[in-house]
Amino acid sequence: MNTSRKVFDIKQYIRSIPDYPKPGIIFRDITTLLASAHGLRAAVDELIWPFLNEDIDYVIGIEARGFILGGAVAHELGKGFVPIRKKGKLPWKVIGKDYELEYGVDRIEVHADAISQGDKVLLVDDLIATGGTANAAIDLIRESGGDLVAAAFVIDLPDLGGAERLRQKGVKVHTLVEFEGA
Ligand code: AMP
Repeated sequence: MNTSRKVFDIKQYIRSIPDYPKPGIIFRDITTLLASAHGLRAAVDELIWPFLNEDIDYVIGIEARGFILGGAVAHELGKGFVPIRKKGKLPWKVIGKDYELEYGVDRIEVHADAISQGDKVLLVDDLIATGGTANAAIDLIRESGGDLVAAAFVIDLPDLGGAERLRQKGVKVHTLVEFEGA
């Protein structure tokens, strides 16, 4: 049995699917990472390590893959979890934000009373590409009065510039692995 875990290669557990959901896109599929006991634990460990001594009130995850990772991160940090969902899914009063997709516009929402003035929050999602989704989530957090500690992602697609754009806005960005291209 190999018990050494010097540098665990998270990247090898991520499946790359060319031309999904459309030609030219390489879909970075984390279901294979989540299905691996070692992969999932390593990913959650690596996501949380910069924040072990940070003052955080909530972990916020973006639907849907951000729920899986964000829920695990919240549990490991001993914090509560707040979901940001796609339009029309949350049952209580919401505030929402439209954001641009490649074709058209989408909307994400958070419960209006989920975050209070001054709450310190950590945003989690599986992947940052253009940063449009994360940017809309950050706008929602800030409109709610939340204080964004950082945004954490398993995967960065640096060629699409999202992480860099967030950093230029003064957001602390933590990512685990990078893939070239879109
Ligand atoms: P963006 O708003 O462009 O940063 O896109 C980030 C969101 O879209 C994340 O929630 C990802 O789950 C999803 N996404 C974008 N590009 C990919 C990709 N190549 N593979 C898997 N998911 C992606």
